[in-house]
Amino acid sequence: MHSIRTTMMPVPLSLDRLLERAGRLFPESEIVSRLPDRSLRRHSYADWHRRTLALASALRMLGLRKGDRVATLCWNHHAHLECYFGIPAAGGVMHTLNLRLAPDEIGWIAQHARDRFLVVDDVLLPLYRQFAAHHRFERVIVVPFSGARVATADGDPHAGEPAVDDYEQLLARAPAGFEFAPHDESDPVAMCYTSGTTGKPKGVVYSHRSTVLHSLNCALPDFVALAARDVVMPVTPMFHANSWGIPYAAVMLGAKLVFPGPHLAPEDLLDLMQAEPPTLALGVPTIWFGLVQALDAHPGRWRLPAGLRTMVGGAAVPESLIRAFARHGVGVAPGWGMTETSPVGSIFYEKPELRGRLSEDEWFARKALAGVPAPLVEVRIMGEQGPCAWNGRDVGELQVRGPFITGSYHGEAPGADKFSADGWLRTGDVAAIDEHGYIRIADRTKDLIKSGGEWISSVDLENAIMAHPAVAEAAVIALAHPKWTERPLACVVTKPGATVDAQALRAFIAPKFAKWQLPDAFEFIDAVPRTSTGKFWKARLRERFAGWQWPTDEGDGGSPA
Ligand code: ADP
Repeated sequence: MHSIRTTMMPVPLSLDRLLERAGRLFPESEIVSRLPDRSLRRHSYADWHRRTLALASALRMLGLRKGDRVATLCWNHHAHLECYFGIPAAGGVMHTLNLRLAPDEIGWIAQHARDRFLVVDDVLLPLYRQFAAHHRFERVIVVPFSGARVATADGDPHAGEPAVDDYEQLLARAPAGFEFAPHDESDPVAMCYTSGTTGKPKGVVYSHRSTVLHSLNCALPDFVALAARDVVMPVTPMFHANSWGIPYAAVMLGAKLVFPGPHLAPEDLLDLMQAEPPTLALGVPTIWFGLVQALDAHPGRWRLPAGLRTMVGGAAVPESLIRAFARHGVGVAPGWGMTETSPVGSIFYEKPELRGRLSEDEWFARKALAGVPAPLVEVRIMGEQGPCAWNGRDVGELQVRGPFITGSYHGEAPGADKFSADGWLRTGDVAAIDEHGYIRIADRTKDLIKSGGEWISSVDLENAIMAHPAVAEAAVIALAHPKWTERPLACVVTKPGATVDAQALRAFIAPKFAKWQLPDAFEFIDAVPRTSTGKFWKARLRERFAGWQWPTDEGDGGSPA
């Protein structure tokens, strides 16, 4: 037999090539950042490219070695984007710290990752000081984001204290003529810890290869459809799964970027959208609930830009939100993902074979699912008896595999609770897939309600309740029940000025559910507690209602029996 070998060049996939491409091909594309005083700072891609290489050169000058971790504690802005490419260009690994975590937790994560340097916004120095005792960085590089002068130590820092540099001064004194070092495509470029919604944070380490493949996916028309003509507004924090990987893809294509900085209130985002109209904005549902409410509360004050589409994910996307956006002429691309999946694992698009076969209402319902798997992502639903059929009904654990899906966690032996024996990631999400490949996330394993031996999806109940016009938000939790194991309690936030009672809500959702699936009680609360990435924090709600007493009569609750 004659053997044959590929004739293709063994050139590694590399972020450095995307950086160079952007500098060469798109020098005039723009990066706009909103500063703490709400003014806008503009950089061309040419400026950004030069500054990113200066950062890489400066890090090398400071003695950064291959594989060293450089943490960032920053809002979304141009300098954070410089870190995205400049740190890996110097051979380092960018580690985005989540500024919404408790200071102790941030310190624990920095220590666990053994971060060597820190890049921090001046406005976040007070936060840094709260966890500085937990982990000693060798150097702290301060971005003068607010424009205030950075207090750097003259001469040697005190023993035990990190050296402090001003980011801009560092860039100014970086040696010219930076040269990229050769690297392997599996070398790490960035790391991110899961936000720990359901447990201790775990570190995921992305490679050149995984990041480039994920970026290419983002440009596919059936997925995010990112293109050079786009104006992208990443509201998703750059510390939340790398703002869903979109900044890398935007740079690859030369798309204009508009970063909101620290101003994420609905009114701020709407003002920014008037000044720098985006064509693609990304964020978790919470952000968009607030934005739509502000729009509806002040008719005529703002207009959503023509042609805007939103990418929404990180939590279930209620049909009511998709319909609200449609009323404002905005398209929605709901997707599913995890820090572990780089993160976009699936996205909704209209499969052509279904065009003309579904009514408008059926399309809306389908949009509220989690989309179809992205290219290169394999999915399966694992039931107790093995893989489930794709029939839209059989539910089990969603498991995924692919070249941008993590196969382990930093510093941990791969445990059976997170990875199957045959190497798939166990997502901890309970889902079904229909015959067309659309994924329906029923719940997180930990949020499912086990009632009388049957399961109830809290997500389905929430979506049904949130469709009521008086409801702003709803989270449904399981509470222990002496007879039925658990029963659902709905925690409801009404819209300002609106009223509705439990009976009316129960009647409103009753047609969509079996009687035994309906919540036994509705509690009206001021706000649903949020996690650090803006998701409903059901663990907090369960704590709050831990002492809950169900009425002693047995009611209709329980199981279908
Ligand atoms: P954490 O696990 O700490 O919340 P991630 O941001 O990685 O951090 O969250 C991933 C989880 O978010 C998924 O496992 C899933 O439960 C949830 N999620 C993401 N997208 C969706 C979606 N479209 N529908 C329902 N749940 C989603």
